[in-house]
Amino acid sequence: MALLKRSAQYLTRSMINWVDTYSPVPHHQLQADGTVADKADLFRCLPFILVHLVCFAVIWVGWSPVAVGVAVGLYLIRMFAITGWYHRYFSHRTFKTTRFWQFVFAALGNSSAQKGPLWWAAHHRHHHRYSDEPVDRHSPIQRGFVWSHVGWITSNSAFRTNAELVPDLVKFPELVWIDRFDSVIPFALGLSTFILGWVLNYLDPALGTGPWQMLIWGFFISTVFTAHATFTINSLSHVYGTRRYETTDTSKNNWILALLTLGEGWHNNHHHYMYSVRQSHRWYEIDITFYTLKVMSWMRIVWDLKPVPAHMLAGEAAPVRAPRNMPVVANVVAVSTPAPVPAVIPSPLPAALEAAG
Ligand SMILES: [Zn+2]
Ligand SMILES: [Zn+2]
Repeated sequence: MALLKRSAQYLTRSMINWVDTYSPVPHHQLQADGTVADKADLFRCLPFILVHLVCFAVIWVGWSPVAVGVAVGLYLIRMFAITGWYHRYFSHRTFKTTRFWQFVFAALGNSSAQKGPLWWAAHHRHHHRYSDEPVDRHSPIQRGFVWSHVGWITSNSAFRTNAELVPDLVKFPELVWIDRFDSVIPFALGLSTFILGWVLNYLDPALGTGPWQMLIWGFFISTVFTAHATFTINSLSHVYGTRRYETTDTSKNNWILALLTLGEGWHNNHHHYMYSVRQSHRWYEIDITFYTLKVMSWMRIVWDLKPVPAHMLAGEAAPVRAPRNMPVVANVVAVSTPAPVPAVIPSPLPAALEAAG
C-alpha cells in the first residue's frame, strides 16, 4: 500500500513539474543529505522523449515544400533567439535592448522548448565559471559525450533554476513567468502550426499540406533539430575543432558547428573572451547571429554591442580584461578554487514570485 502511495506521489509530482517548474522539490528526488541526486529521471523527462518519438509520425504525414519551409524558417528564427538572446543577451549581456524586445525574444527562445531564459542563463554562467571542472554539468571530459550532449538535462539536479546566478534577470516578473511555466509557449507554437496547416489546406489544397503534417514538420522536427544543434555546443565543440587560444577548458572552434548554430561554433574564441556580442575573431569566420544583431542595431532594436578587443582581432597577445558594467557572475573568467554547488535550490525565486504575484 505504501509503495502504491509513493508511486502515485511520484507520478503526480512529476506531472506537476511538466507544467510548473517552480513547484516544490518532490520528496522522492531528495537524498538523505537533502540534496537532489544527479542522475536521469526519465518519467519527468517523458515530454522531452515524446517530442523525439513523435517525429517518426512523418512516415504517415509525408512532406510538402511548404511544411519543410516552415520547419526551416522556425529552426532559423528560434536558433537565432537561442544564440543571440538566450546566450549572448541573457547569459552574457553583450548588448542592450528595451524591455519589450527582451520579452519578445525570451518568448521566442522559450518556444524552442529549451526551458526558460533564467534557467538557460543560470546554467550557462555556471558552465563558464566551472568549464570542464568536476562540477561542470555538461563537460564531455568529466562525464562522457552522451551526458554532455543530452544526459545532464534529464537529471533532476539540473531541473531547477538557480536564481543566485541570475540576479539581474529575476527582477523581471514577465521573464520569471516564462521561466516558471516554460511549456506554455512551446504548446502554443505547436497549436499554431496545426492551425496554420489547416488554414493552408483550406485555402489551397494544391500545397499538399494539412494540420498534422504542419505540426510534425513545423513544430516537432524543427524543435528537435534546434535542440540538438544547440546541444552540440556543449558536447561536440568541446571535442572536435581547433584551438586559437590556450583556455583552461577544452573548447574548440569548429566551422561546421558555427554554420549549423548561426555562429556558436567559434566556441574557443568565446571561452577566451565571453564579453563580446561577436564570436568570430577573423573576417572569414562566419557568425550569422552577429550579422543579424548588427542589422537590428541599425534599426535601434538593440544597441551598445560590446566589441571584440582590437588586439584579439589583430591576433596579438594581451591579457583578457572584462569590460565594466557586466553582470558579476558572467564576468568570472576562471575560478581557482570552485565553491561547492548546491544541488537543491531550497525555495526557488521567492522574491521574484512575489513580484510576479
Ligand atoms: Zn563551453
Ligand atoms: Zn557563453
